[in-house]
Amino acid sequence: MATSKVLAGARVVLPTGIVDDGLVAVEGSRIAAEGAAHAQTVDVRGHWLVPGFVDIHNHGGGGASFSGTADEALTAVRTHRLHGTTTVVASTVTDDMDFLVGQAGLLSELAEQGDIAGIHFEGPFISPCRKGAHSEELLRDPDPAEVRKLVDAARGQAKMVTLATELPGGLDSVRLLAEHGVIAAIGHTDATYEQTVAAIDAGATVATHLFNAMPPLGHRTPGPIAALLEDERITVELIDDGTHLHPATVQLAFHHAGAGRVAFITDAMDAAGSGDGRYLLGPLEVEVSEGVARLVEGGSIAGSTLTLDRAFRRAVTVDRLPVEDVVAAISANPAKLLGIDDRVGSLEPGKDADLVLLDAEFELKGVMRRGEWVVDPQLG
Ligand SMILES: [Zn+2]
Repeated sequence: MATSKVLAGARVVLPTGIVDDGLVAVEGSRIAAEGAAHAQTVDVRGHWLVPGFVDIHNHGGGGASFSGTADEALTAVRTHRLHGTTTVVASTVTDDMDFLVGQAGLLSELAEQGDIAGIHFEGPFISPCRKGAHSEELLRDPDPAEVRKLVDAARGQAKMVTLATELPGGLDSVRLLAEHGVIAAIGHTDATYEQTVAAIDAGATVATHLFNAMPPLGHRTPGPIAALLEDERITVELIDDGTHLHPATVQLAFHHAGAGRVAFITDAMDAAGSGDGRYLLGPLEVEVSEGVARLVEGGSIAGSTLTLDRAFRRAVTVDRLPVEDVVAAISANPAKLLGIDDRVGSLEPGKDADLVLLDAEFELKGVMRRGEWVVDPQLG
């Protein structure tokens, strides 16, 4: 049962900055301006209190994926909640169109119930040159009519489509998505700098896992990375798991884009929050060894086993980023991007009581979602 609580004494990260010995009041499922007279006080001294994490690119976890049944999708949702992700967008991978249309219907029901915050289609409209862990024979050019088919199948719950915008039909598809209020994300792309600028001008607003699955920055061929980093209209996704990006690369992205234009994502697959072994990523077999997921055939990195609590800790302790910048990139910016920042993404009165409690070493100790403990810190 949701009750009134006051979490007192933590270092609280608010939109306006960090407050030492701060206080967050919870009334029912929401954050309240002040504690009710009968509220239970929870002493959280020695901890950080930050907004619940928002992951806009996530394929699964806990041994289950968003390409499976509704029950499997919910297993993935619950697994990531235990790691502080109180809002998650479900990502599909390249598959045949009929399957994706069916999956869009299934996931749209979970979105309507409030279990997920919408759907991200990653593939099939991506470049065979930068396919990563997507089935090459199922890739296709981004035909606007087919893009439209997926968006319609998601019944208003399509939030983002990753495209290689340089392919035939790419720019028209970007325009179509923008018209429908769906984020066009540039990724798994072999575009030049100029082609990337054209896609941004057409309405693309996100870089899918910047640096990964795109040409590297060259001195005469700046490619998509330079175009995506420099443009104020773009939010760049980063997978900060220690495998996909070097700490200096993460710092470079923050330095160039600014903390307001970065979104930390997991790009997690089934093994996140689970363990090493054999898994599927869509139709492809993946071997996870020491937490790194690779295709059995070819050895491409195949998503991550990351959870956002680990990304948070790494960003602060390894990448040495300011805590408030990490909170922006892991909660506030993705919430804004999804247009749900009136409800989630920051600790403000009236918003959902979605919050994460971290100890002084940034280890996760508690997770609250809509006023209920998902991970109870067991404090008095
Ligand atoms: Zn992905």
